[in-house]
Amino acid sequence: MSFERDDRRAPRVGTVKEVTSLTNPIIKDIRALSQKKHREETGTFMAEGLKLVIDALELNWSIRTLIYAKAAKGKAQVEKVAAKTIASGGLVLEVSEKVLSAITRRDNPQMVVGVFESHYRPLADIRPANTETYVALDRVRDPGNLGTIIRTADAAGAAGVILVGETTDPFSLETVRATMGSVFALPVSRAEPRAFLDWAGKSGAEIVATHLAGSVDYRTIDYTKKPVVLLMGNEQQGLPPELAEGAGRLARIPQQGRADSLNLAVATGVMLYEARRHLLSLDTPEKSR
Ligand code: SAM
Repeated sequence: MSFERDDRRAPRVGTVKEVTSLTNPIIKDIRALSQKKHREETGTFMAEGLKLVIDALELNWSIRTLIYAKAAKGKAQVEKVAAKTIASGGLVLEVSEKVLSAITRRDNPQMVVGVFESHYRPLADIRPANTETYVALDRVRDPGNLGTIIRTADAAGAAGVILVGETTDPFSLETVRATMGSVFALPVSRAEPRAFLDWAGKSGAEIVATHLAGSVDYRTIDYTKKPVVLLMGNEQQGLPPELAEGAGRLARIPQQGRADSLNLAVATGVMLYEARRHLLSLDTPEKSR
């Protein structure tokens, strides 16, 4: 690979561009990806860490830009992802630690960052099979909760996460961090409440909604007969009546002690592992998929 010094021109295809200045327009553009508006306008987002970048490329996510620290230069895996980026028409930047810190807003940044094209799976494309479990989240607000849920859903072998209504962005840096890479493995869809209920009605899946006023103990439900959509409520308000009434049943996780409710991500984890208990085995994890 050849190198080009820091300047304001776009780099030639097939080169690695060295950048040390925070005022470089390409760096300014990448830093702007911390704003949802800019992520949506460009249809791109950032993921930090070599492992995540390798995983994303293996799962065929399109990379636009690879950024790595000078100190990572020459490392075999970094060279490999750089070559892949260039081969797919992307840009490779070798930057100072100061630039990486500014891009990731961290004092001790990861050595490698990738800018990828974001992607939602259209709800209309989903035809749930009997052994499949989906998680639907009503207006989830907290990036840490969303990231943890995507990670947990991936680990439990769920088939996808559906974002209902106005939610936090699955492609924000905080959410992507919290998914630990599962955002690349698990399809994410989004829909307004009415469109979600229409899709669920036609899909043959059963919505099991969770609600603090639920009358059914979540352990008494048979999750084996149909595809299941676990519907979880907003952190502050819980499920609105429109969604609660659209669900087949309202399940409750029993509680003792003084806590009003479980944290959303914890409640989702509990439900996922119960709903998929019959499909998850310690010996053959791949068979649960
Ligand atoms: N103040 C909210 C309310 O009144 O519903 C609490 C919402 S709770 C933090 C977020 C979501 O987690 C709930 O809407 C529900 O989906 C789920 N959840 C939490 N604890 C639960 C429990 N014990 N049983 C059923 N669902 C629960």
